[in-house]
Amino acid sequence: MQQRLLEKIQQFKKKRKAVILAHNYQPGQIQDLADFCGDSLGLSIKASQTDAEVIVFCGVRFMAETAAILSPEKTVLLPEKYAGCPMADMITAEQLRQLKAQHPGAVVVCYVNSTAEVKAESDYCCTSANAVEVVKSLPANGEIIFVPDRHLGRFAADRTGRNIILWPGYCASHVVITEEDIKTAKAKYPDAVIMAHPECTEPVKALCDKLLSTGQMLRYAGQNKHGRFIVATETGIIHALQKQNPQAEFIAASERAICPNMKKITLEKIFWSLEDMQHKVTVDEPIRTKARKAIDRMVEILPTE
Ligand code: SF4
Repeated sequence: MQQRLLEKIQQFKKKRKAVILAHNYQPGQIQDLADFCGDSLGLSIKASQTDAEVIVFCGVRFMAETAAILSPEKTVLLPEKYAGCPMADMITAEQLRQLKAQHPGAVVVCYVNSTAEVKAESDYCCTSANAVEVVKSLPANGEIIFVPDRHLGRFAADRTGRNIILWPGYCASHVVITEEDIKTAKAKYPDAVIMAHPECTEPVKALCDKLLSTGQMLRYAGQNKHGRFIVATETGIIHALQKQNPQAEFIAASERAICPNMKKITLEKIFWSLEDMQHKVTVDEPIRTKARKAIDRMVEILPTE
């Protein structure tokens, strides 16, 4: 049954001249099906470079929007139209305009996990892979506003020594990982390296050995192929880590760290998406042009790790 479905997806993918991109938090079978898996930065770069006519984005809405901003001539499909990101919805463009009015002259850095309208109000976008490098690239004495994730913003502030005005957004799937989870895992696996995503809370990050984006976790684990790792991020990444490093051991810091929106995409929905060319994600031209400038800056500033 599943084999038949996979064949039909391949058949329609060819017919539509489509490419399937999947985020590292997607269910394992979707990662296996995708032409390219990665973190937000890697997927954004892929979306801007592909010569496919259709991009099927297995992720959440802001990722598909980013692809539509970068490649307006392509058709971008989100297989599940209600796959959103609660953190992205924690700030509106109007709220950001009000914050900017309180800090005229501040440079606005927005995490790519944000709506197209918020990106359009921002000077720079960043991902968790290059937030530090983006902040470092800014003039030394000016004010910086960082939205919407306060934990990634705090991480960038700590690494750069810059004073950053933070918006109080957060990712519910990361803040669910507690200090207790890390201490329990550390007691059980004292030899394991603890890798945490910068979206985790500060007390959790303080207990971890490495703070890395999902793409950086994959690279780091690839350099230590026989190691044991405790992974403090959304559990979908374990599939990619284990697949690329079959001899290493990966343990989720918390089995509760699941993003329900990422898990809304299924094989059936990918097939329907290709069959019916739904759900098309587009961004209005004035917003797209403004947001594009911030995204281009994000893609240009590469992480050093
Ligand atoms: S893991 Fe968090 S930040 Fe990522 S899509 Fe889900 S809710 Fe948004």
